[in-house]
Amino acid sequence: MTTTAPTESEDPPETAAETARHQLDRAASHIDVDPGIVERLKHPKSVHQVSVPVEMDSGETRIFTGYRAHHDSARGPFKGGLRYHPDVTAEECVGLSMWMTWKCAVMDIPFGGGKGGVVANPKTLSERENERLTRRLAEELRDIVGPMRDIPAPDMGTNAQTMAWFMDSYSMQEGESHPGVVTGKPPVIGGSYGREEAPGRSVAVIAREAIDHYGHDIEEATVAIQGFGSVGANAARLLDEFGANVVALADVNGAIRDPDGFDTHDVISHEEQPGMVSGYDAPESLANDELLELDVDVVIPAALGNVLTVDNADDVQADLIVEGANGPTTTRADEIFAERGIPLIPDILANAGGVTVSYFEWLQDINRRAWTLEEVNEELESEMLTAWNDVRGAYTAHDDVTWREAAYIVGLRRVAAAHEVRGLWP
Ligand code: GLU
Repeated sequence: MTTTAPTESEDPPETAAETARHQLDRAASHIDVDPGIVERLKHPKSVHQVSVPVEMDSGETRIFTGYRAHHDSARGPFKGGLRYHPDVTAEECVGLSMWMTWKCAVMDIPFGGGKGGVVANPKTLSERENERLTRRLAEELRDIVGPMRDIPAPDMGTNAQTMAWFMDSYSMQEGESHPGVVTGKPPVIGGSYGREEAPGRSVAVIAREAIDHYGHDIEEATVAIQGFGSVGANAARLLDEFGANVVALADVNGAIRDPDGFDTHDVISHEEQPGMVSGYDAPESLANDELLELDVDVVIPAALGNVLTVDNADDVQADLIVEGANGPTTTRADEIFAERGIPLIPDILANAGGVTVSYFEWLQDINRRAWTLEEVNEELESEMLTAWNDVRGAYTAHDDVTWREAAYIVGLRRVAAAHEVRGLWP
C-alpha cells in the first residue's frame, strides 16, 4: 500500500493562530528562553466575544458577532487593528494578536498585542449601518479598551472614519474626550499625519534595505505587488520613487503587467476607486495569483493572508519576498522558501510602520501636540532602520535562521525579558 503525505490543500487550512504558534516554537528553539514563558505566550490572555445588535436601514434588527483578542501586555497596553470581514473568527483574532505582540516588540514600542474583528461584510452595509455597528461595538467593548488598556486601529474593512465613530462613542460615554483610545483617526480629532501611508512606507523602506543587503541596485530591481489598497499602493508608489521598476500590480479583480514598469501614481488605487487596477490599460493582464509566480526580483504579497502555500511555493520565481499583508505565508510554504534559499522578510518587520505611526499618534494624543508629516516620516524611517539593523544582527549572528526567525528572536527576547522581570503573579 502506498501512502502520500497529506498536503495543505487536502488538509483543513492552517489557522492564523496555528501558524503563529509554529513560528513561536521555531524561534524559541534558537535561543535560551524560559519554556514557561514560551508556554504562556502560546495562549492569549483573554478573548472577548460580544453580540452587536444593529438596526438595519430596513428596520430589521441584525446581530453581528465581534471579538477582541488580548494576547500579551507585558510591555504595555494591548494594541492592534479591528477588522470587519465575513471570515473573521476568534481563532484568527488570536493569531493576529500574537503577531501584534511580536511586531510591537521588534519595533521596540511599549505596546503588547491585541486584535479584534466583526463578522460582517462592510461592502454590504450602508454608511449609517456601519456607523451604528461601530458605535454599538465600541459600547460593548468599552470595559476592555482604553488609552492605557487596549488601543484598536484600522485593519481590513475599517478606516479612519470607523476610528472616529469608535472614539466619539467611547468619549461620549466616558464623559470626556479620549483621542488615545484608538489610532488611525482623522487628523482633525488627533489622528497622525502619515498614519494611512505608514504600513506601505515601511514595506518600501524594508524592501529597499533588503535589496541592498543582497547586493542589488534598487534602480535595476523589478517588483510585483499583490494588492493595490492602502499597503500595496503606498509601497508601490514609494518603491517607484526609490527607483525600482514596479512591473506587476494586482487588486481583487485581477493583475496587470508592464515589463517596462508602471507609473504607479497613474494607476488608481483600490482605496481611491475599487477595482480600477484590472481596468488599467496595460500591455498584459493575468490572474491575481499568477502575479506571485512571475520572474521578478521582489514579490510583495500585500492583500490577504495564506496566499503563499504548499500549492504555489515551488513555483515562486522571485529572488526575495517581502510580506506586506499579515500572515500571507503558511508554515509549509515558509519551509519550502527556506529549502529553496529564497529570503522572505516577514510581516512583523516589513509592515510594522502602521503600528509604529500608531504609537506616534498615541504620543501626540497624550501630549495634545501634533507632529508634522515630515517629522512623522523622518521618525518612522529612523525606527524602521533601527529595527532592520536589530533583525539583520540576529540573522547574521545565528547560523541557519530565516529572516522570520531572526525577527522573532528579536521580539521574543524583548517580550521574555519583560515577563522575566515582572514575574508570574501571584
Ligand atoms: N492593523 C495594523 C497592523 O496589522 C495596525 C495596528 C495598529 O496600528 O495598532 O499592523
